[in-house]
Amino acid sequence: NSEGPDAKNLRVKLVLLGDSGVGKSCIVLRFVRGQFDPTSKVTVGASFLSQTIALQESTTVKFEIWDTAGQERYAALAPLYYRGAGVAVIVYDITSPESFAKAQYWVKELQKHGSPGILMALVGNKADLQEKREVQVQDGIDYAEKNGMFFIETSAKTADNINQLFEEIAKRLPWPSS
Ligand code: GDP
Ligand code: MG
Repeated sequence: NSEGPDAKNLRVKLVLLGDSGVGKSCIVLRFVRGQFDPTSKVTVGASFLSQTIALQESTTVKFEIWDTAGQERYAALAPLYYRGAGVAVIVYDITSPESFAKAQYWVKELQKHGSPGILMALVGNKADLQEKREVQVQDGIDYAEKNGMFFIETSAKTADNINQLFEEIAKRLPWPSS
């Protein structure tokens, strides 16, 4: 599929940002390994994983994923991870308004200091916890629209919309034409 004269193997650096506990590491684990581990460990500093998907016939996209720690004490390190990133995935937890506020902080930070033209996706995770929802879908949609971001709600637990998140990002990236 990704061989032959017309084959294109694209790659992009992707950084995950957001409050501690929103599910960033679980999203990555679900996407890369197809697993959900409810006892997963807190990320220290940052971790790196990669995953390749097919974009179209004979075109693949390799995501080089930097999963950052949300703790305040690592905030100063964040620019190391988002610098040069083509994509920033900013995650909040739909049961936590505080995490939604933190997501908005990251959006502003990236608008000021991120690579020009960085593609930003806003992700409301833990969509399986509908009965505990405190951030309305429309609030996510409105904020994303105002800031020119792609928006999706996911569940790393049920796998709902996890692959779609990365597929939609791949489709929206400004790939070189040759
Ligand atoms: P991170 O700090 O943003 O990397 O968050 P983690 O990926 O470590 O997840 C924090 C906690 O949230 C863990 O206990 C996970 O099991 C839980 N979690 C992550 N994603 C989901 C989800 O989609 N639904 C539910 N119900 N729990 C989740
Ligand atoms: Mg983590």
